[in-house]
Amino acid sequence: MTNLNPTLDQAQRDAVEVLQNIISRPEPLKVRDRLAIPLQEMPELDANYRATSLEEVALGFTPEMARLEAMRCLQCKKPACVEGCPVHIDIPAFIHFIAEGDFQGAADKIKETSLLPAICGRVCPQEIQCQENCVVGKSLKSVDKAVGIGRLERFAADYERNFGGVAVPEVKAPTGKKVAVIGSGPAGLVVAADVRREGHEVVIFEAFHKLGGVLRYGIPEFRLPKEIVDKEIETLEKMGVQFRTNFVVGRTRRIDDLLDKDDFDAVFVGTGAGLPLFTGIEGESLVGVFAANEYLTRANLMRAYEKDKADTPIWGGKHVAVLGGGNVAMDSARMALRMGAKSVKIIYRRTEAEMPARAEEVHHAQEEGVEFCFLQNAKRILGDENGRVRAMECIRYELGEADESGRRSPVEIPGSEFEIEVDTVLVAIGNGSNPLIPQTTPEIKTDKRGRVLVEELTNKTFMEKVFAGGDIVLGAATVILAMGEGRRAAAAINEMLV
Ligand SMILES: Cc1cc2nc3c(=O)[nH]c(=O)nc-3n(C[C@H](O)[C@H](O)[C@H](O)COP(=O)(O)OP(=O)(O)OC[C@H]3O[C@@H](n4cnc5c(N)ncnc54)[C@H](O)[C@@H]3O)c2cc1C
Ligand code: SF4
Repeated sequence: MTNLNPTLDQAQRDAVEVLQNIISRPEPLKVRDRLAIPLQEMPELDANYRATSLEEVALGFTPEMARLEAMRCLQCKKPACVEGCPVHIDIPAFIHFIAEGDFQGAADKIKETSLLPAICGRVCPQEIQCQENCVVGKSLKSVDKAVGIGRLERFAADYERNFGGVAVPEVKAPTGKKVAVIGSGPAGLVVAADVRREGHEVVIFEAFHKLGGVLRYGIPEFRLPKEIVDKEIETLEKMGVQFRTNFVVGRTRRIDDLLDKDDFDAVFVGTGAGLPLFTGIEGESLVGVFAANEYLTRANLMRAYEKDKADTPIWGGKHVAVLGGGNVAMDSARMALRMGAKSVKIIYRRTEAEMPARAEEVHHAQEEGVEFCFLQNAKRILGDENGRVRAMECIRYELGEADESGRRSPVEIPGSEFEIEVDTVLVAIGNGSNPLIPQTTPEIKTDKRGRVLVEELTNKTFMEKVFAGGDIVLGAATVILAMGEGRRAAAAINEMLV
């Protein structure tokens, strides 16, 4: 426990005491009692320790903390939190189970609607979904004081994994029908589970040598331990889902081959948005400039952080600049610290208020020592005589009028250029749709940004028997939205195969 944030032992002692007081009271809790229960903070590793370690930062609630946090819920008759959840988990019901100490009951309740709760509890942006709507947060005038729905979801899922054992969903008798799922990210995993349950044969084709999509190669171990992704995939394996890794659909085989030659009855395309966007500024092809996605893939998937063992060691930058303000920027900045950087700067054109990254990730990055340089942007990257990055020229910005997104737009301040010394630049300004499948299968139509066009209710593409969902349809979005798309597509596939 020495690496814990030091105030947390006390927090656990407080939780035990408050819980005992509540349980020993004869009368039921009233609304005002519930609102008076102290919000339970998440135990975390100490910031100095964790900045050099891949261990998971957030450690999860103890049972006492979870029960207390659950007791803060008012069990609303018309729960606004459920409206904010893209997959409509019965939030008050699962929270009630936790408050009563029935943790497995809570996990079972969540699983009725959400397949990957241990993952969603860790990475979903609850503060702009369920928790934003929570009446407790509204009564206490801060979304930060809402019931910790995501933390409770994680608690229930971890309890099931650690103590109850994850139940393998029942699979109906074989139907003789075959479904190909392309891509093993959250969208593909959900489709595989929902289609397999109906008794259809399912094969997942994945371009990488490991399964999980961004859950594996993008989101770092310190936010989402890969053991959790492994467990979810193990459950699919036990259900009889088959996997073909190192298989690039569009190269190894095309979609029409899968349908016409390999006798698949339906295909789901869940190939994500893994195509990095670049800024186009001078110096972007110097050695030491990485797309943040590539940097994270090398670090996570190729385990480049195991410096002595890794087959593909990564360039160990000492002074790193990260361009962008989303989750990918936060993850790569925090990974750079863990890869041994002495200084890491986030360069962002707007201010903290406009940053798209989750507030929690920004806060964690700040605590770990990442420096935030707001109202600045890169103008060009400067190299040395060997073609390596040596510095970056930046320019200052101010905020002008609001643009069509409602955010105030950044405006350059002429003549405000200045140089910073860096040896590595990570570009995290966004990702586009993977183009290979639309390029090799023109029957699948896309919009101007390369996103596959689908029917709204069924996720069916313009090609017969082919469905699509997740980031390849939405553009770079979120895990829970990708899962929601997968669910819809799976229902349509199952209906088509009846
Ligand atoms: C660094 C990073 C951090 C993020 N953090 C968060 C977060 O905190 N919270 C959140 O909700 N969302 C986050 N996201 C976004 C989220 O991960 C995605 O929205 C989600 O993973 C999309 O799921 P998907 O199944 O559509 O695609 P992906 O997860 O991208 O999976 C697609 C899979 O398809 C495979 N593939 C591609 N082309 C082919 C082909 N031709 N043949 C075979 N296989 C192919 C890919 O290798 C990949 O494994 C983050 C994204 C990144 C990159
Ligand atoms: S809105 Fe908040 S208080 Fe009401 S049921 Fe949902 S979590 Fe509980």
